[in-house]
Amino acid sequence: MKIKQRVILAGAGHANIAALRLLSKNLPDAEFVLVNDGEKAWYTGALPALIRGDIPPEQAYIDAGRLAKTCGARFIDAKFLGFDSNWARLSEGEPVHFDFLAISTGASLDGGVKPIGEFLRRLERWAQMPRPDIAILGGGAAAIELALALRIRLSKKARITIMASGTILDGAPKPVRQAVFKHLNAAKIPVLPKMPLMMDEVLRAYTPEPVLRVRETLQLESQENVFATGDCALFPTKLPRSGAIAVRQGRTLAANLRRALAGQPLRPFSPPRHTLAILSLTASTATAWYGNHSWTGRLAMALKTNRDSAWLTVGEPPS
Ligand SMILES: Cc1cc2nc3c(=O)[nH]c(=O)nc-3n(C[C@H](O)[C@H](O)[C@H](O)COP(=O)(O)OP(=O)(O)OC[C@H]3O[C@@H](n4cnc5c(N)ncnc54)[C@H](O)[C@@H]3O)c2cc1C
Repeated sequence: MKIKQRVILAGAGHANIAALRLLSKNLPDAEFVLVNDGEKAWYTGALPALIRGDIPPEQAYIDAGRLAKTCGARFIDAKFLGFDSNWARLSEGEPVHFDFLAISTGASLDGGVKPIGEFLRRLERWAQMPRPDIAILGGGAAAIELALALRIRLSKKARITIMASGTILDGAPKPVRQAVFKHLNAAKIPVLPKMPLMMDEVLRAYTPEPVLRVRETLQLESQENVFATGDCALFPTKLPRSGAIAVRQGRTLAANLRRALAGQPLRPFSPPRHTLAILSLTASTATAWYGNHSWTGRLAMALKTNRDSAWLTVGEPPS
């Protein structure tokens, strides 16, 4: 009997989820194994709505076990610890042999929002404090969304400050930055270049530099049967760290895994010139931009809600 090749997808990051969904439409003759550190693959795009209390936790994650089953893969609930040659080390059980490995474990840093389960417990603690004093470090979309969502969740009792060393939302069109500053001012969230003294809590809302160097084909520089995508992968050219880019990489990953299994040459990932970014400002308003085009209002929020719920629907293909 011919032994099937085994593909391990380590981490239910955006790219691995997108790749698995695409591959499942015509699953190659191989064994697919999804490894995630828990059944809940939290979706950061829905985190602001969860913080605001607009959605329950069940609407902010993908059930990784169910996703694997729906897509014809095996699920292992364990932490991926690394690999030696063609063996993946997991927190549970013996090392698992692979023919191909795709790592999509994201990036986390101490005091950040990931793992999201831990951040939600921290949020509960803030909600119990009489007057929490929170500094959010970072000047990107995540820092702004988190600050505005925390203002709604913690009401006026909290002191919330954004601390950013450079320009806020660098590269976003002017109307987007104007809309953001208008909402930050109304929510009494100052943006400071330096951390104020005496903060109770610091929330890091930026992505650390990835450590896994990849080629244009998303294969590791150091081992060609191992792929890495999303926030844990350092691509040869500078890429924004976003779920949108990771989902695009998922398409290339799916195609390249299919080709690698068939012994065919791989294709490079071509980063898009622009991706659509949508930043929620309130429960009903968002600001969206694509290159130099932007719009702010309820329609942008409706689009975000629609896209988020499509992504979170287990059987849904990536948009
Ligand atoms: C508040 C906020 C809002 C954001 N909103 C958007 C948005 O609207 N649009 C957008 O494009 N980007 C958004 N981003 C950025 C986006 O979240 C990240 O760039 C995106 O999550 C890419 O991460 P990833 O797919 O690489 O991994 P992740 O989404 O972090 O997924 C990694 C997965 O791997 C699992 N995992 C981690 N370590 C291990 C391990 N050792 N073993 C096994 N499993 C493991 C995790 O549990 C998780 O399921 C937002 C970020 C934040 C903080």
